Amino acid sequence: MAIQWFPGHMAKARRQVTEKLKLIDIVYELVDARLPLSSRNPMIDEIVSSKPRIILLNKADMADARVTKEWLSYFKEKGIHALPLDAQSGKGLKDILPLSKIVLKEKFDRLEAKGVRPRAIRALIIGIPNVGKSTLINRLAKKNMAKTGDRPGVTTAQQWVKVGKEIELLDTPGILWPKFEDPLVGYKLAVTGAIKDTILNLQDIAVYALNFLKENYPDRLKDRFGLEDIPDEIVPLFDEIAERRGAVMSGGIVDYDKTSELIIREIRSEKLGPLSFEKPGEEI
Ligand code: GDP
Repeated sequence: MAIQWFPGHMAKARRQVTEKLKLIDIVYELVDARLPLSSRNPMIDEIVSSKPRIILLNKADMADARVTKEWLSYFKEKGIHALPLDAQSGKGLKDILPLSKIVLKEKFDRLEAKGVRPRAIRALIIGIPNVGKSTLINRLAKKNMAKTGDRPGVTTAQQWVKVGKEIELLDTPGILWPKFEDPLVGYKLAVTGAIKDTILNLQDIAVYALNFLKENYPDRLKDRFGLEDIPDEIVPLFDEIAERRGAVMSGGIVDYDKTSELIIREIRSEKLGPLSFEKPGEEI
């Protein structure tokens, strides 16, 4: 989905989420397990402060399991409820309801004491684009719902999707914009495919990715591209990968765009295995 985040669009997105919040008991905030802080909306804490929330570390299958564990401890220490999830396969899905019940126990007990009949938990999924919101809604709804997209001029009533007997989910998620200000955050979002390639320079993204791999996953970098050693400088590293992959044009000129593209493509398609792009405690 190509979303242009102009100030007016951001204000509208915020308004839409705020409207939906009035209808629900709990927010499921989807983040990308590979970059759990960079894939959060910068204003989310303020926007949903009135509602209980569970952070779902989605795409956990693509993240480094060891680092995901560290993130779960990180959120736990902060008193934030968080769960790992793979919305595509459904792994982790079964943990959402029990945790939701724990989080909402006090509220529902209070309602019951007032004589309100027990009802399903009403939930809203929120996240930045591409984090897996539709995938999760479809999974929970156990069917493929047609994507309606934007229909200008048509006021659509909120639709609820039943998830078993105990959860009702708003069928359209809350979409909020990602962080834009910090270039490093931008590169992380780009290399994982959260933002469009055209927003940032392809070669810059690849340079970020190679430096990241060099530092954090040197053996996988070597294995994948058949390198004996990793050159210290970034240009020779590019050149070696280009040579191995036939991205050298006549006259020995390296096609840096092609090389950048293949590096990014292979990271995104998990050819270098599951990767986590940030760890708790690092500056972001
Ligand atoms: P939305 O924009 O937040 O609604 O994101 P989508 O649900 O459209 O998902 C974006 C892409 O991520 C799609 O290609 C999904 O198949 C993929 N995806 C979503 N969840 C997962 C997951 O848990 N694991 C993996 N590997 N891919 C996922």
